[in-house]
Amino acid sequence: MKLSSYLSGEWVEGRGAGRALVNPVTGEEIARADASGLDLSRAMHHARKQGGAALAGLSFAARGAILKAIADVLIAHRAEYEEIARHNSGNTAVDAAIDIDGGIGTLKYYARLGQGLGDATRLVEAGQDQLARDPVFFARHFWTTRPGVAVQVNAFNFPSWGMWEKVAQATLAGVPSLAKPATATALLSWRMMRDVIEAGVTPPGMLSLLCGGGEGLVDVLGPMDSLAFTGSAATARSFRQAMASRELPPRLTVEADSVNATILGPDAGPGSALFDLAVWEAVKALSVKAGQLCTNIRRILVPKAFEADFSAALAAKVEALVVGDPALESTRVGPVINLAQKDEALANLERLSAETQIVAEAKLPDFGPNAAFVAPTLMRCDDPASAHAVHTVEVFGPCATILPYDGVAQAVGLGKAGEGSLALSLFSNDPAVQQAALSGLGPWHGRLLMVDDVVGKAHTGHAIVMPQCVHGGPGRAGGGEELGGVRGLRFHMQRSAVQASPNALEGLVAQAAEAVV
Ligand code: NAP
Repeated sequence: MKLSSYLSGEWVEGRGAGRALVNPVTGEEIARADASGLDLSRAMHHARKQGGAALAGLSFAARGAILKAIADVLIAHRAEYEEIARHNSGNTAVDAAIDIDGGIGTLKYYARLGQGLGDATRLVEAGQDQLARDPVFFARHFWTTRPGVAVQVNAFNFPSWGMWEKVAQATLAGVPSLAKPATATALLSWRMMRDVIEAGVTPPGMLSLLCGGGEGLVDVLGPMDSLAFTGSAATARSFRQAMASRELPPRLTVEADSVNATILGPDAGPGSALFDLAVWEAVKALSVKAGQLCTNIRRILVPKAFEADFSAALAAKVEALVVGDPALESTRVGPVINLAQKDEALANLERLSAETQIVAEAKLPDFGPNAAFVAPTLMRCDDPASAHAVHTVEVFGPCATILPYDGVAQAVGLGKAGEGSLALSLFSNDPAVQQAALSGLGPWHGRLLMVDDVVGKAHTGHAIVMPQCVHGGPGRAGGGEELGGVRGLRFHMQRSAVQASPNALEGLVAQAAEAVV
């Protein structure tokens, strides 16, 4: 089976043999994807003209209704998607839910947001500033839709959530999307898009899909188009270079990799609820989606005084993890997505080995040489202050390292050594520790999860991205920003200061939805 692409309003196939998508448990080929020879320039023109015009004429509420309709189509086919996620991504039921329901949930969230913004087609910021001595001349900031296409290049680990979270924001802003899933897991994105197109719930040109390599995408971007990239730091670099050589560069946002940390506070000793919650969160990092989450905990910072207790508690749970076929209910950890990813994870583990020692490993099933399993591996680094690799090498698999620390100042310093991350979590009831984390590590993170006894088990998880909250991070995390409620529309809209009389502003404001930004 060869995956087609949906471009210029029709399903088309690339001319080449393409690359294989495999079942990571058996290595068996399940599909191929290829985009060679496809007319990307024509596809972009079609999306700008047809999709752009259709969405621009709709209110936020009407765009929200489209997102709700897409979510309903996906819900109707959910069981088939779970099956695909198992076969192509090696997902357990829990893993598949994070990707599939995460996508549906984000669509529904932006659908509700659209409903709340009502009949308007643009946004206005709260408050205006007087610019002249007499009250005749003021300024106010408006957001208007950019007349381009949102090109979205996604990573292999979220073929559903990655695609729909980007489509949701672009659609609500009034911009058509051209989604390019990562080839290795493109089957789920392809199937979902096919169902949505067949259901006829989107205006012509609003959605395009490119299955196969994305070479040449940058060349067809116009100055009002944008590129939202999610993937590795290395690919991000090549996109940045390609964009920098453009005379009129399109907008670019990057969500790249990071070596995220969690911190167990000095007040959260053995026997406390926070200690147990931190152990549980670390177990998830070593099991859920076989560790293939960009926000996953890679470094576990624990006070030296309770490092032995923490290691023992976590090691017992890691050794008990059942690794195996994601089709079985008893399986907690499935394979990584293919042999190439397995090799990369093992090579990166090797890079950490000079600075770490293995504390615990789960047992690996014997599925033969074509199976892409990586054993959940817990390591410890005894000298994190002098280490380099543990802070900078992302092992994209079920692996994490315990870093014993001595005092909150050192914990903050170790957190910074990740050079900018998507998410940090802190398990502490101490306001002074929370303050130190925010002031010291806020600038280095896009999201900080602070779990205390009041939050307890009610938190949504270190790795889980909520559409209400900013997703993205500084430095090596790419410097991008997505989601975060209505602010997620900002990337697709132009923020303009309008300087005018109070009467003129009043007339303009009457047609806009007020947004506090
Ligand atoms: P990747 O190898 O960088 O690929 C990402 C995407 O870029 C894929 O769709 C890939 O297409 C495409 N691509 C690669 N070279 C291209 C080119 N020259 N032109 C156009 N497209 C090109 O990353 P990955 O292996 O899929 O994903 C794993 C990484 O993503 C991890 O490091 C993880 O931390 C990161 N990630 C970050 C986030 C976040 O939100 N920050 C989320 C998820 C994952 P092909 O697949 O067709 O090659």
